[in-house]
Amino acid sequence: MKQRKILLTEDEMPRQWYNILADIKMNPPLGPDGKPIGPEDLAPVFPMNLIEQEVSTERWIDIPEGILDVLSIWRPAPLFRAYNLEKALGTPARIYYKYEGYSPPGSHKPNTAVAQAYYNKEFGIKKLTTETGAGQWGSALAFACSQYGLECKVYMVRISFDQKPYRKSMMQTWGANCVASPSSETKAGRAILEKDPDTPGSLGIAISEAVEAAVSDESGQTRYSLGSVLNHVMLHQTIIGLEAKKQLEKIGEYPDIVIGCAGGGSNFAGLAFPFAHDVINGKEVAIYPVEPTACPTMTRAPFAYDHGDTAGYTPLLPMHSLGHTFVPPPLHAGGLRYHGMAPTVSQLIVDGIMEPKAFGQVETYEAGILCARTEGVIAAPETNHALACVIDEAKKAKEEGKEKVILFNWSGHGLIDLAAYDKFMSGQLEDFDFPADDIAEAEKVLEQYPKPEIIKNV
Ligand SMILES: *Cc1c(COP(=O)(O)O)cnc(C)c1O
Repeated sequence: MKQRKILLTEDEMPRQWYNILADIKMNPPLGPDGKPIGPEDLAPVFPMNLIEQEVSTERWIDIPEGILDVLSIWRPAPLFRAYNLEKALGTPARIYYKYEGYSPPGSHKPNTAVAQAYYNKEFGIKKLTTETGAGQWGSALAFACSQYGLECKVYMVRISFDQKPYRKSMMQTWGANCVASPSSETKAGRAILEKDPDTPGSLGIAISEAVEAAVSDESGQTRYSLGSVLNHVMLHQTIIGLEAKKQLEKIGEYPDIVIGCAGGGSNFAGLAFPFAHDVINGKEVAIYPVEPTACPTMTRAPFAYDHGDTAGYTPLLPMHSLGHTFVPPPLHAGGLRYHGMAPTVSQLIVDGIMEPKAFGQVETYEAGILCARTEGVIAAPETNHALACVIDEAKKAKEEGKEKVILFNWSGHGLIDLAAYDKFMSGQLEDFDFPADDIAEAEKVLEQYPKPEIIKNV
């Protein structure tokens, strides 16, 4: 029998996260006055122990026992060799994937949700607020809060709230309170509803609502939690890549190509940063973050300072951005409908250490169906973007006759996204190409802010 799964024991779980800020220089986040912000500026929004991680430049950060204990419900996650997909493609490439769909909510997101709930609890916080797009992040935080006995309030992007009722049921099962965003509960939500009562909503709007709800709670015991984009989120996700590295070492492999889909960048960064560390130290690895052509943040949007949310409550972050007022088309990979990209991932793209790719919706579902019929797992629509890129690279390896080693992140399963698969199989899903006019529009929105310095780390 061929070895299909490469496993680690619980004892072999990484005991430290890798912090890429030890190895790269970045533009600082800016406040409303255009000056760099300090940790105290973030204190109404996040607990200080997480803010310390956000700004830390220590290369290795210990994972507390209280976090490892909850992560061990599903970690270490297996690494799979995709023999059946390789065979179907007739490729000489060896394809490996890290499977993050085993977590109770079904994606990589609890890796940081658990850590964030733990640190908030340690800091004496009683309640967390957050936004969610497709519902993956809301359900991950609901699960994590239930593990540590915290209250959880989730603002869910309207279009997903209507299209994906089962994610809401999961959140409620774990004891969270979930409302559609924009809601009439916040100033930010009411302002949007007044202008456009039928808006499908966006992550940017939902973030504004959740931040407002956290900072306006007078008890002082509520904080906000973000599921992607920020440095500490990327940090918590590096357990994925650190496990994958150990697993590949066990079988004497090292990747030529590392691939992940990228919405805010966290599952991709989680797998890729430990390998980016090697690239910074002279190794050669091609690293590809993948996004939808309908929301082309990395491949077409400028690298600029922008807010992380629509109302402009968050600091200005240096990132690739379509402009914080951008409302993406109602695409089915809800987790990839975000106007910005993690500043760390954006900086590594500027550095040329990572090379973004974009795929159309139809091609991504074709990839998802092929993988379901070969590897057996039905992937999340977000993951399908990584799969499309993997298939593309495996075909190139075939044309070139090269035995490439491809590693990718299978960020989650799609068992709550079957309505989208139905639409695809009945021919109702279309590609949407982002109009050039809209890029000009984004540039106009971004003109009002200072320009980030072009830093080159390699
Ligand atoms: C949320 C989500 C993503 C996108 O978010 P990132 O922060 O870019 O990882 C990708 N895949 C799945 C399954 C998700 O739930």
